[in-house]
Amino acid sequence: MTTTDTTTRFQLAEKDLPTAWYNALPDLPEPLQPPLHPGTREPVGPADLAPLFPMPLIEQEMTQAPWIDIPGPVLDILRLWRPTPLVRARRLEQALGTPARIYYKDESVSPAGSHKPNTAVAQAYYNAQAGTKRLSTETGAGQWGSALAFACAQFDLECKVYMVRASYEQKPYRRVLMETWGASVVASPVDDPNHPGSLGTAISDAVRDAATRDDTHYSLGSVLNHVLLHQTVIGLEAKEQLALAGEERPDVVVGSCGGGSNLGGIALPFMNDTRVRLVAFEPSSCPTLTSGKFEYDFGDTAGMTPLLPMYTLGHDFVPPSIHAGGLRYHGDSPIISSLVKTRRMEAVACPQSKTFEAAVQFARTEGKIPAPETGHAIRGVIDEALAAKEAGEERVILFNYSGHGFLDLAAYDDYNHGRLADE
Ligand SMILES: *Cc1c(COP(=O)(O)O)cnc(C)c1O
Repeated sequence: MTTTDTTTRFQLAEKDLPTAWYNALPDLPEPLQPPLHPGTREPVGPADLAPLFPMPLIEQEMTQAPWIDIPGPVLDILRLWRPTPLVRARRLEQALGTPARIYYKDESVSPAGSHKPNTAVAQAYYNAQAGTKRLSTETGAGQWGSALAFACAQFDLECKVYMVRASYEQKPYRRVLMETWGASVVASPVDDPNHPGSLGTAISDAVRDAATRDDTHYSLGSVLNHVLLHQTVIGLEAKEQLALAGEERPDVVVGSCGGGSNLGGIALPFMNDTRVRLVAFEPSSCPTLTSGKFEYDFGDTAGMTPLLPMYTLGHDFVPPSIHAGGLRYHGDSPIISSLVKTRRMEAVACPQSKTFEAAVQFARTEGKIPAPETGHAIRGVIDEALAAKEAGEERVILFNYSGHGFLDLAAYDDYNHGRLADE
């Protein structure tokens, strides 16, 4: 790479949109343990999951096929914003005085402003194909609910969103997005108006809705294998774009981790190259990977979902209400959990104030204002870049810019005026 090269954005043509998803399941260091039935504790079969999901998604949960073709109607919708740009964060590098080269994959350019529509569109498509009329789901701060509301609008599906009550009351703008895309939104838990709610209670409400209505399936925005599968378009594109930038490979791939979908999306396509380090960043107030136990646990508070083998803080854990709402989940993706357990992936927890400090430095150098969740990845990137400076090494750092922070400005206001508390 010559020192006079100032290229900043590495763009793929529309025709270079990946046409297949990468399936990590056959390549994992250890095979995943199966999900267990919540009643019998026996491995669940496809028939157990059929009240909740259409068959193609159930198959994607378990398949050993290395690649899965992306259906044409899904590609047509992804083309509204994909391929997304890969950007070299030159101005952040200069501010840090680091010899590291920092690249970010900009998933904030989607209609809902995050990576989440990548799977929402695929899930809505397979449900529409199977004759589902209505989808139920949960949402924390509203990122996933807004992605699914957009996707349902594309396929004329009804969308019912159970939104964590604390966010429903404090963060109206994502509810407005969801309603504008045609979804109906209620506060969760529905049967206890004094409870602030959590992702766990909202999942219970949404699963109960789908399990008790014939016309309705359930949709989950993270954690499950098929969700990470759909997100691999991110890493597949990034690989091509790094090649355009003249990079052989990243030395380290970084993502924030709530349920593991944006991290899996960018990291899994690099998993087979053991020279590439993979690192998860999570909040120290909800430290699932760094302080949780690896064991079978429910995905929801009421214990209605199958038991998944994962790092968990316990299904009744109610995390403190930090601004990065998308990272407040007691469990984690079985794929990500397995990678951490086998030490293929590292995990780091950081306090909220440090993530906002990093997010603000990014905003003042690169210009873009990140989602508080994304701020966790940026904290990790800055620490990696400073370590590279310390070591005098030219590391190549790739991270997932999972979403923008335009609907999280109250959080920035708190940070800017010294009102942001660490747990
Ligand atoms: C939901 C969300 C996350 C966390 O979810 P993952 O499934 O771990 O990716 C991170 N960033 C943004 C912007 C989100 O909306």
